[in-house]
Amino acid sequence: MRAAASSGCARAALLVLAPLLLGAAAASARAGGLVAVPAAVPGEPADVPERWALYMHHLHTVTGSWAYREGGAAAAARGLDAEAFRTLRRDLASIGVFAIGTTEHNTLAHAAVLERAGLLPAPAPPYLLLGTEYSGARSGHLSIILPPGARSLPPLVPRDAHAVDAEELRQVIAEAHRAGAFTAINHPFLARFPWPSEQSLGARAIEVDAPTAFGPTLVRNLRWWHERVLAEQRPIVLIAGADFHLVGPLRPRWFRTYLNRVRLEGEPGPAALFAGLLAGRVQIARPLVWQDPAAVPLVLLGVDLDGDGSFAEGRAGALLQLPASCGRVRLQVRVLGGAGCVLALYDEREPAHPAAVAQLEQSDTALAFDKLLAAAAGLSFVRAEVYDPSGRRLVLTNPIYFYRAAGRD
Ligand SMILES: [Zn+2]
Ligand SMILES: [Zn+2]
Repeated sequence: MRAAASSGCARAALLVLAPLLLGAAAASARAGGLVAVPAAVPGEPADVPERWALYMHHLHTVTGSWAYREGGAAAAARGLDAEAFRTLRRDLASIGVFAIGTTEHNTLAHAAVLERAGLLPAPAPPYLLLGTEYSGARSGHLSIILPPGARSLPPLVPRDAHAVDAEELRQVIAEAHRAGAFTAINHPFLARFPWPSEQSLGARAIEVDAPTAFGPTLVRNLRWWHERVLAEQRPIVLIAGADFHLVGPLRPRWFRTYLNRVRLEGEPGPAALFAGLLAGRVQIARPLVWQDPAAVPLVLLGVDLDGDGSFAEGRAGALLQLPASCGRVRLQVRVLGGAGCVLALYDEREPAHPAAVAQLEQSDTALAFDKLLAAAAGLSFVRAEVYDPSGRRLVLTNPIYFYRAAGRD
C-alpha cells in the first residue's frame, strides 16, 4: 500500500477517496481479519486473463415484452423485432461481448422466433443462452437460464402471475436446478416488483447491479446479498443484469454499462460460459458510458493453501473447506488494467467498509494478503472491488469462500 505517485490518473481525486477507504480499512485491520503482506513475493499468477469473457445477463428480446400481463403466447405473437435484435447483437459483438443471456417474461416463445430468424444457435460470439424471467405481476422476478441446447423447462409460467409468492418461487427454483438451470433473483428491492421474501429461497445468484440499482440501491442489494450468504452459510453469486427491453430505439449509452466477466470453464463456447456461471466465476464489469468494456480492469483472485507460491488452489466462486487448525490463508489479488485505480477488499465482517485497501500504480499488479479466520467455525470470504479515481465502482468480484469446520484451533 503506497501513496499514489506517478500514475496518469487524477491524484487530487484519489486524495478524496483514499483516506475514506484507508480509514475504514485501518479500523477493520485492528479487529484482525485481512492483513497485507507487503514483503511477500506475490507468487505465480493465479489465473489466465484470456479465459474471462464478457457476458450480458438478463436481456429482453421480444418487442414490448410485458408478457406477465397478457400471457407469453400473446407477447410472442406480436413478434420479435429480429432486425433490431440483429443490430443489438452486432453492436455487442463490436465491444467484445461473448455471450448474452436472454430472459423473456414468463415464456420461452422467443426461442422459436430466434431460431426462425437464424439467431439461435448463434454460430459465433455473442452466443445466446436461452432463458426466461419468471415474473409475478406485483413481485418476485427470477431469471432462469437454461443449459446450452435445452429448449424447455417445467416451471415456466406462473399459474396466476398476480399470486406469485415465496413458496411458489422456492419450488420453481428447486425444479429449475433439477433441470440444470442457473437462477438469479432480479432487482430484489424494485418498488413495483420486490422479491417477496427475506430469504433467497435457494436461488443461485442475486442481481445486485442493474439499471434499476443505481446509487443506494446497489449498496442495499450488496448488503442483502452479504446477509443472505452468512445466514444461509452458502455461496450466492453476485451478478449484474442488463434488464434491457428491446423496445423502441436502441439505447446503447446505457445497455453496455451492465456487464459481467465470466471465466470460461472448458473449450471456449456457450457451454464453457454456462459452466463458469454455475461455478460463480463471475465479476461485475461496469464500463463508463462509451468506455470500451475490455478496458475495465480485470481482477484475478487466487489462494495458496500449501505455501508453494502458486495461487491456483482457489478462484473467485470457490468454496474451500479448511481444517479446524487452519487460522490463516494467503491470497493473491492480481489486477490488470488498473493503474491509478484503488483496490478495496471486503470480507464477511462488513459489507460496506473495506477490510484492506491499496492504490494501484502498475497496469499489472499482484498483491498478497493474509486472511485471518475467525475462531468460530463457519463461512467466511474475501471479495474485491476496484474504484476509478473519482470513486466510481468499476469492478465487483465474487468472493473466494472459506468454510472452517468446528474443532479446536
Ligand atoms: Zn423484472
Ligand atoms: Zn427483466
